[in-house]
Amino acid sequence: MSDGTLTPEALAARAIANGVELWALTDHDEVGGQQRARDAARAAGLPYLAGVEISVTFAGLTVHIVGLGVDPENPELVNGLAATRDGRIARAQEMAEGLAKVGIKDAFEGALNYAGNPELIARTHFARYLVETGICASTHEVFRKYLVEGKPGFVDHRWATLGNAVQWIRQAGGIAVIAHPGRYKFTVNEEYALFTEFKAHGGRGVEVVTGSHTTADYVKYADMAIEFDLLASRGSDFHSPEESRTDLGTLPALPTRLKPVWEALMDRVQKAA
Ligand code: AMP
Ligand code: MN
Repeated sequence: MSDGTLTPEALAARAIANGVELWALTDHDEVGGQQRARDAARAAGLPYLAGVEISVTFAGLTVHIVGLGVDPENPELVNGLAATRDGRIARAQEMAEGLAKVGIKDAFEGALNYAGNPELIARTHFARYLVETGICASTHEVFRKYLVEGKPGFVDHRWATLGNAVQWIRQAGGIAVIAHPGRYKFTVNEEYALFTEFKAHGGRGVEVVTGSHTTADYVKYADMAIEFDLLASRGSDFHSPEESRTDLGTLPALPTRLKPVWEALMDRVQKAA
């Protein structure tokens, strides 16, 4: 429902085909797909956990905090996500102005065509439009040339605070997890601060094995999980068969020395009726 290309139903079918044993759909800043995902999983006999991935600004960078096992109808979570989404449209208009300055016209309208919901318009949608127009050959090239810090389509944006995001997830009965920590360009001190403050707010998990981590990252964040006494998670960050490096259900297992986050969530897993 945010910036993936497949429907919740198609994802459930793909998860089953790939041998997934427990699935969570984690849209950015949105829980509108949870009912459909849960129903599709139930119909297919696939155990399901409700999820979300919240955009947070920390030390000047965007960090994603995943919530697992949340109640998608919890008012604190729903209202917090609505506040986080607010501002995406204005940001996208500014991004389009930046792109217009380097000769790329109508990017707002082009990106909007890819964003089902304008409130969730994301850089990914701009990337797809620039590939469609032939300006770049792949979405990765668009990000590198146009959509990251210092490039013409990048607009700094303040998302939720770390404390708020963790609190919304906890109020909704879920476990907060730092998503793909290997992707953030923090200094050692900033990264340490992220983990320390996350714990102080009641965050409990970290993604160790994910589609955007290298094997060196697996080792580094397995060590950090133990150092900070965090539960370990494993997520594909799958968005699209054309764009994602990692398919559902294809990542290696968590290192056995870690405590899997799902063991703490078994009471919230939704099983087939
Ligand atoms: P936004 O929330 O608008 O900042 O967009 C974030 C989306 O951009 C996420 O879905 C990321 O997976 C995606 N993204 C971030 N960096 C890259 C990259 N270098 N290549 C492809 N997708 C990216
Ligand atoms: Mn995404």
